[in-house]
Amino acid sequence: AKAADFSSSRLGVSFEFFPPKTEKMEETLWACIERLAPLDPTFVSVTYGAGGSTRERTHTTVARLIGETNLKPAAHLTCVDATREQVDEVARGYWDVGVRHVVALRGDPAAGVGVRYQPSEGGYASTPDLIRGLKEIGDFEITVSAYPEKHPESPDIAADIQLLKRKVEAGATRAITQFFFDNDGFDRYVDRVRAAGIEIPIVPGLVPVLNFEQTARFAAKTGATVPRWLADRFAGLEDDPQTRQLVAAAIAAEQAFDLLDRGYRDFHFYTMNRADLVYAICHLMGVRPRKDAVVEAAA
Ligand code: FAD
Repeated sequence: AKAADFSSSRLGVSFEFFPPKTEKMEETLWACIERLAPLDPTFVSVTYGAGGSTRERTHTTVARLIGETNLKPAAHLTCVDATREQVDEVARGYWDVGVRHVVALRGDPAAGVGVRYQPSEGGYASTPDLIRGLKEIGDFEITVSAYPEKHPESPDIAADIQLLKRKVEAGATRAITQFFFDNDGFDRYVDRVRAAGIEIPIVPGLVPVLNFEQTARFAAKTGATVPRWLADRFAGLEDDPQTRQLVAAAIAAEQAFDLLDRGYRDFHFYTMNRADLVYAICHLMGVRPRKDAVVEAAA
């Protein structure tokens, strides 16, 4: 691979985590953060779910990241199933604790898959609307989603790109893609985005396939295609986690090297709160620990 040629040019990586539900999960998350932090990510992001307790967990996690690390956290925020006041309150909570970067999303109705999205009574109608609301609360850096294979509810890619354009006009300065395995398709998508006059970075979202069945289920929900070759590579390894891990690393490295060869320099990793594979892929790409990265408690 030509990827090694790029080790000297600075790559940007970012890591996505989900907020832990239990003490054990919290330990797993923080072990993951401590391992990945020295790679000096551009930012780390913490997802947001529906319901009060999840909201609190996102807040608590970003607050701890600010208090105990020198990482720059981005807090996700959705506008589904909530009034403007409720969303604004969460956003103000982020701002007050020092969060200056929000991943702004529409979100999915709590009622589940197949339930058509309806803006809440008194809520933000759409992602661009949410972004405008956020900008009134504080000058947040705004990242949004992008869908190389189109969002499942979108009539076509052109409609999705028009929505992306409205998000940019509202203040978004970066988009992270839904995960994908077809780099040609991603390239074509980026060409169409550029042809539409959108200049912001479109950062590929990469998912290490820690568990093929789980990834396939998730892909089905999100509209991401799972290519036949991917299924073939994991076939027969259902009871062999060790080999699966090696295969997953090889597949992810292959995809990342190919994206490097195509000139991409920023990568977002859906870590699932597991560091090993992501760390290995970053290492292969030439992303090495920064000696002076401060991870220990600020206290
Ligand atoms: P948008 O890009 O704003 O819209 C997606 C599609 O929805 C549009 O193409 C359009 O067809 C349709 N649509 C938009 N507005 C309307 C409307 N007013 N009426 C009808 N249809 C409409 N989910 C979470 O719950 N928490 C997270 O933390 C989270 N993080 C994510 C991070 C990334 C990088 C990505 C790619 C996704 C994330 N998601 C998260 C999933 C996301 O919430 C779902 O994909 C959701 O279905 C769409 O949200 P969005 O912001 O991507 O939507």
